Amino acid sequence: INNKRDRQIQLHRDAAIFYYRTLLKNDHAKEYLQMRSIEKSTIKKFGIGYAPNSGKSLLNYLLQKKYSVSEILDSGLVLRNKNNSQNDMYDRFRDRIMFPIQTITDKVIAFGGRVLENSKSPKYLNSPETSIYSKGKHLYGLNYAKKEIENDQIIVVEGYMDVIGLYEKGIRNVVASLGTAFTLDQGNLLKRYTKEAVVIYDGDQAGQEAASKAVEILEKCEVNAKVTILPEELDPDEYINKYGKQAFFDRKVESLAVIEYKITRLKQKYNTNSIDGRINFAKDMAMYLSELNSSIEVEAYLNKISMDIGISKESIIQEIKKNKLKEH
Ligand code: ATP
Ligand code: MN
Ligand code: MN
Ligand code: MN
Repeated sequence: INNKRDRQIQLHRDAAIFYYRTLLKNDHAKEYLQMRSIEKSTIKKFGIGYAPNSGKSLLNYLLQKKYSVSEILDSGLVLRNKNNSQNDMYDRFRDRIMFPIQTITDKVIAFGGRVLENSKSPKYLNSPETSIYSKGKHLYGLNYAKKEIENDQIIVVEGYMDVIGLYEKGIRNVVASLGTAFTLDQGNLLKRYTKEAVVIYDGDQAGQEAASKAVEILEKCEVNAKVTILPEELDPDEYINKYGKQAFFDRKVESLAVIEYKITRLKQKYNTNSIDGRINFAKDMAMYLSELNSSIEVEAYLNKISMDIGISKESIIQEIKKNKLKEH
């Protein structure tokens, strides 16, 4: 195999095998995963590994596998200090739990690494952009989820551990956007496999803001989007471990359509107990409704909003008309 891309993919495969074998020999790492309720079969399924603490283990392994220094550096898995000597190269990932990032055809193209102690930072470290990996073009877990799609629906979560934690509990139609910003590329990729996406991001402020952006992108990609908000700022992995699978499903059934989610979020933003708050809320809502094309949808939401805040439908419609005039 001489093709540069094939060589990189093979190198990543070898690295994944190295990390996986290292995990099986390392009690500290195995105990960590046990503590997070991850079974051996799940470790195997996702190819979870461990990068040892010593600085050159992967480097030496790859050299022994006859990869060239330039191939090894191109992978991003090994770094080099400025003076360009081979003595000055060291593994990017040290003492981390390793998550292989795979394409939809199961090829490892990058890694995410998590520290074992929460005190260390950064908590997660990812591969850099390389010749085979562009951030934001892949969805973690899609190669598994695509075989497990239920009711033409895929659940979108934030992190590795959310995908894996839900998988462990038998929920397997799950992908992670990795990091917070869901991209158009990811939306278009998802659209090839499912009609509907349920976004279940972390319940904290950052997660909710990211969820708002994600559903807007999903709508642009013509994926039917819904949102579930988890309580107590929990993330899906924490929630299912605390409350169980049934509770998770109950939450998911109650997931909000995009516009309901917007109403909920805007209500949180404005204090709708005050007159000022209600007016500003209605104005913001009118702005959003004026972007909708379906008059049936607009009507449905007008009813709900005017009931909720006690401002007449007619006043909100006036506001929408003003917005439409401004647009044209
Ligand atoms: P854990 O449950 O292991 O603590 P998490 O997945 O809940 O991890 P979050 O802090 O909620 O972690 O972050 C969500 C996701 O965002 C992570 O899984 C990871 O993919 C990504 N992420 C978080 N921090 C970083 C970082 N410093 N660099 C790159 N990606 C990150
Ligand atoms: Mn978070
Ligand atoms: Mn978590
Ligand atoms: Mn989280």
